[in-house]
Amino acid sequence: MMSEAPIRVSSIQALLGLQREVVAGLLRSEAFATGDAEGALRQITEAAARLLSVDRASVWRFNETRTSIECLDLYDAVNKAHEKGLVLHAKDAPQYFEAATQERVISADDARTDPRTSEFRDGYLVPLGITSMLDAPIVVRSQLVGVVCNEHVGPARVWRPYEELVAGTLADFVGMALSAAEHTAQARELAIMHEGLEKLVEERTRQLVATQESVRTLFEASPVALVLTRLRDQQVILGNQHASELFGVVIDEVRGVSAASFWVRPEERTEILTKLLQAGRDAEVEVELIKSSGQVFWGAVSAAMLTFEGEKALLVGVRDITEKKQAAETLRKSEEALRTLLEAAPTPLVVSGLDDGVVRFGNKRAADMFSLTVDQIRGRRAIDFYGDADERRRFVELLRKQGHVDDFAARLKTDTGEFFWALLSARTMTLQGERVFTVGFADLTEQKEIEHQLRDLATLDSLTGVYNRRHFFDMADRAVQSMEQKKKPLCVAMFDADHFKKINDRFGHDVGDDALRMLTSVCQKEIRATDTFARFGGEEFVLLLPETPIATAAVIVERIRRAISEATVQVDEQRVPLTLSVGLAERKPGELLDTLLRRSDEAVYEAKRAGRNCVVLARDEVRGRSDMPRVTS
Ligand code: GH3
Ligand code: MG
Ligand code: MG
Repeated sequence: MMSEAPIRVSSIQALLGLQREVVAGLLRSEAFATGDAEGALRQITEAAARLLSVDRASVWRFNETRTSIECLDLYDAVNKAHEKGLVLHAKDAPQYFEAATQERVISADDARTDPRTSEFRDGYLVPLGITSMLDAPIVVRSQLVGVVCNEHVGPARVWRPYEELVAGTLADFVGMALSAAEHTAQARELAIMHEGLEKLVEERTRQLVATQESVRTLFEASPVALVLTRLRDQQVILGNQHASELFGVVIDEVRGVSAASFWVRPEERTEILTKLLQAGRDAEVEVELIKSSGQVFWGAVSAAMLTFEGEKALLVGVRDITEKKQAAETLRKSEEALRTLLEAAPTPLVVSGLDDGVVRFGNKRAADMFSLTVDQIRGRRAIDFYGDADERRRFVELLRKQGHVDDFAARLKTDTGEFFWALLSARTMTLQGERVFTVGFADLTEQKEIEHQLRDLATLDSLTGVYNRRHFFDMADRAVQSMEQKKKPLCVAMFDADHFKKINDRFGHDVGDDALRMLTSVCQKEIRATDTFARFGGEEFVLLLPETPIATAAVIVERIRRAISEATVQVDEQRVPLTLSVGLAERKPGELLDTLLRRSDEAVYEAKRAGRNCVVLARDEVRGRSDMPRVTS
């Protein structure tokens, strides 16, 4: 270090000798060689203080716009201390800045009065005891960048020309030091950049090779055809052996070709693959693709997005599913054939799932049978067509055990709730890989007709248990014949329940039924063994009284009427009001049953008009019988 005490030199030679020595020292200094600007500046300020015998020497640097100047280093020779960082603004010392930017040495013998430096008097020169200043401009690459400032403390001093020269030389050194530092910094940065660049290139190359290799390895190991395409323009980048075989191409030759050109509908490729990517990893879509030979095939396509060589790319997997498609098509055709067959069959047929019991198909005849359309029967639960669920269970059990069932009689139900009997025959089979069974139905409607007839042959009414209308006619016909022969009287009474519609409306049909049953049991208690009481229909009843004149009959039917009106049918504490309107007629000699019935019916009508709950004798009966009232109640 050269921080020696300031020396007074008496001759130019001595000064120059000293200067040479100092400069040589500076040039040899490590700070200069390594571009250590800070170190160099400290050496220069110390050298300046020594060479120019000043208490303070400093280096200042302008900002870019030269509106301020900052102290890079100030050497206080008295205290042998360095400081820095002080900033002066042009607006605070305009004259000094004006002078400093002239790029000439400012040689102020009396700094406190010199117009160039007097601005610093009160705030700086006086407090620090500075009397003379010698400032030299620092120029780097012909640009003024700052000043070297030498400040003398003590009696004012007259600066000598050679001292100005020394100050200038020192300022040049500062310029050199600054530019060297700049260079060094630049060079170092460049070197670092260069090194970084080389490393980057090396790393990138290594990655590239690695990626390509791993992609290639994966590619070739994959059991599916894989094609790597650029997202931006759909161009083929890579493809594996499977891909080249599947599409019948040499991959190197199709590199750069648009992947969409292998699609039957190339315009759909982007949209389909986008949807596929959104659908997730395992998604697949079936599309028609083209081989280089022009042959079209079905491929199941999957896709994944990845970055390859810094660009977004799509890895597209393709499986040839032409065979599978053909198989599905064959199946579809065979099913179609089966459908046609079932449709053409002359019997009702239904195909249902063996496990879920859901109808897969029903032909028109079957649909009609269940009061449905062909479309409606599909999807129905077979069990809903059975009158008895247990019967269906037995049927399916048999079917599972034997694989077939023949002539299984079951009570079935239409969609509108009507029951019918049918004979079922079924076979199990496999349809679309699923266990199903086909059932054929033989309608037992004819048998049902016979059943109807059988029921008609019965003599009793199913609701009330009294004789039915048919039986009444049988009995009445016979009685009319017999009474005609015996010339004995015969009466017929017709009963019609009053306001029966209201009873149904108010208490429900079931209560109405109960009322009818009660009515018949009351009536049957009142009649004689020789009388025939029957349900004529609905809420109408009829009583046949053989060998009975109308006077006797009137007493009997009046008894019945009263018994009914007094009987109680009760529903939840409420009395059901049940009364009868009765029409009574006595057969005239030779009169047909029909006429007799019509007359008694007319009497019922009159009983209704008379206010109901009464017995009315047919018109002809009263004529000449003033002893009997026509209406009794
Ligand atoms: P009215 O004879 O007094 O003029 O009145 P009504 O309400 O009885 O009239 P109508 O003879 O026209 O109606 C007879 C009703 O009886 C209609 C029908 O719903 C009801 N009915 C017929 N048969 C049955 C049956 O078996 N059970 C029930 N609950 N109601 C029946
Ligand atoms: Mg009626
Ligand atoms: Mg009635």
